[in-house]
Amino acid sequence: PGLGGRRKFVPPTKGQQGNGGGLSGNFNPAKSVTQHMVNGYQNEDKKQDENLEPQDERYKNLDPRMVELIENEIMEKQINMTWNDIAGLEFAKKTINEVIIWPMLRPDIFKGIRAPPRGILFFGPPGTGKTLLGKAIAAQSKSTFISISSSTLTSKWVGEGEKMVRTMFAIAAIHQPCVIFIDEIDSLLCARNENDMESSRRIKTEFLVQLDGANTFAGENSRILIIGATNRPDDLDEAVKRRMQKRLYIPLPNSAGRKQFIQRMVERESHGDEGHQINLDDKSIQELVEMTKGYSGADLKTLSQEAAMVPLRQIDDIANVDILNIRPVTLEDFKEALKNVKATVKQGDLNYFLEWNDKFGSFP
Ligand code: ADP
Repeated sequence: PGLGGRRKFVPPTKGQQGNGGGLSGNFNPAKSVTQHMVNGYQNEDKKQDENLEPQDERYKNLDPRMVELIENEIMEKQINMTWNDIAGLEFAKKTINEVIIWPMLRPDIFKGIRAPPRGILFFGPPGTGKTLLGKAIAAQSKSTFISISSSTLTSKWVGEGEKMVRTMFAIAAIHQPCVIFIDEIDSLLCARNENDMESSRRIKTEFLVQLDGANTFAGENSRILIIGATNRPDDLDEAVKRRMQKRLYIPLPNSAGRKQFIQRMVERESHGDEGHQINLDDKSIQELVEMTKGYSGADLKTLSQEAAMVPLRQIDDIANVDILNIRPVTLEDFKEALKNVKATVKQGDLNYFLEWNDKFGSFP
């Protein structure tokens, strides 16, 4: 792949991988096949896979230690997820559909002035599904998913963060199409100031270079989408904010979102083994929805885990109990759990996000 040139995220087109179809020769579905893929893809995969041997010249100038870490521990191929795994967030899903998925289906339409953005920012309180959305995008666009948090970059790779960033983008280029998800992007790419340590200044610069694609590993038709997630969007570096062309508010779930979350959980568990049932009828679900106003998706998950423990605590001899004798989880158990598991996001904090959304958020 050539160096230089501007990069745009051009997601893959269904059925066009073999002949290019606007895709560069690096396209590597092998690393992002899902079980839905047709056989034709898979044959192509085999051929492409050979390109990924370590002797591949694209690996030549990369630090093997970092490559190994990224490819084995950070990178995820074949994510199995659908939009239905994410409760609520209809607005975000709709926008993502138009901005990312449509271009994936019709790259011929989405070019020039309709070219998809290379960077998206998800902002909002913690535990609302920002990471889930990133994964769902990767799954939908059959992309490799690379997820990195700022703390890993700055703490684990002291003094090498800049190199790690460069390596990450190089690996992303090799495994295109690729979604790079950067959690806590604010702490990595906060407004630059004089007190910055030299190392973090260099990480920021490297990121901006990569975001711009000036020093690209991927060539002109790069299919690398960068997603940043933050719950402190105000702290973001101005230059980074500008490069995140779409900025989506990911709010706490409303009552419809909470209802979906609870319904799906009940469904999921009822397909499971005996002894794992949740007994919530429609009326109880509605009651629970009302009792959990202000809870994030992550809070709902914690609450459910706590509720699921209540029946177990009532068993005298857990070591020998017959699993069939474990009673289902009930609304009363959830009420019990509500005493301990409170909403982690303060109502007051929400104004901050709403205001930022008014000023900088994207609307379809
Ligand atoms: P964030 O990245 O916004 O901090 P995550 O996407 O990591 O939050 O969510 C943490 C966990 O909370 C998820 O693994 C999931 O179990 C649950 N969760 C959060 N939001 C949702 C949602 N909208 N739908 C379903 N589960 C959710």
